[in-house]
Amino acid sequence: MRGGNYEFRRIRRRFRKAFVTGSGTVDAVDRVVIRTETQGRVGFGEVAPWPGFPTESADEAAEALRSAQGDLARLTAKVSSRHMPALAAALSSCRHWREIASFTGALECAGLVAGGEGVHERAARGHRTLKMKIGPSDGTNLAREALDRFPGVLRLDANGSLDLAAARLWTEYARSEMRVEFLEQPLPVGHAGYASLGCEKVALDESFTTPDGPAWAGPAVVKPSLAGDWDAFLTWRGTRTAPVVYSSCFETAIGRQAGLWLASLDPAPLAVGFDTLGRFELDGRDRHEGGPFARGLSGLDWERFWKELA
Ligand SMILES: [Mg+2]
Repeated sequence: MRGGNYEFRRIRRRFRKAFVTGSGTVDAVDRVVIRTETQGRVGFGEVAPWPGFPTESADEAAEALRSAQGDLARLTAKVSSRHMPALAAALSSCRHWREIASFTGALECAGLVAGGEGVHERAARGHRTLKMKIGPSDGTNLAREALDRFPGVLRLDANGSLDLAAARLWTEYARSEMRVEFLEQPLPVGHAGYASLGCEKVALDESFTTPDGPAWAGPAVVKPSLAGDWDAFLTWRGTRTAPVVYSSCFETAIGRQAGLWLASLDPAPLAVGFDTLGRFELDGRDRHEGGPFARGLSGLDWERFWKELA
């Protein structure tokens, strides 16, 4: 096939412990891993939707892959004519795979903590930035206590769970505390209150997803796996002056390697949110090492990894 061909594999990964997200508890995720071949060049990509983010589901991506019958040109045309940002991102990874596979750099990684739990442990591992999940029942004392025990920078992520009064309180706190980098997604997606909070120190995550979403002059959290076509993303990034923070949505080694590569291209890098390893039952699909730096993998036989996914 002149435009190239592809195969795909659908896999399910179970969390060791059910994972609490902004839109409920998740005990397993479905992923679709793609292997493309174009004029002898092989590429890999991963469709990794995440609850609460407005992309296609793994089922919808698998259906598009089935219906294009292994014809990469047909699949690419289908994806560009519809809103399928997770599949578009996966195909971008396939296209850039040669560069992605050779990425062996190290990116500073924020340590993920739930409430006050884990602050000491993540700080002792050497993380200089922590990301703390906060909820409607938490007061700002939670963040103050963490900063008392940790010398670095704190990000606060509410996953859209606050009401406007609480969001205002946390925003004021973030502005008053130099060591709080930003407050992430305080209000639900589309909440009119964002205009009154202002963009200084307020980051969008669930509300952002792809560059063609609503404009925001504050920090944007980008999940490479959900961001749509990466060439379009990089063009947009080149024109944006506000910070961009990259974050994982629990990909296999293929999606992680690709996401880290995309993050490594950022002109003004901040710590990445890739402290997501060790959360699944042991299934052989995580291959990177965790810790205060997220590093690209060197020397993995990706063909073999692909075969072992079966
Ligand atoms: Mg978030």
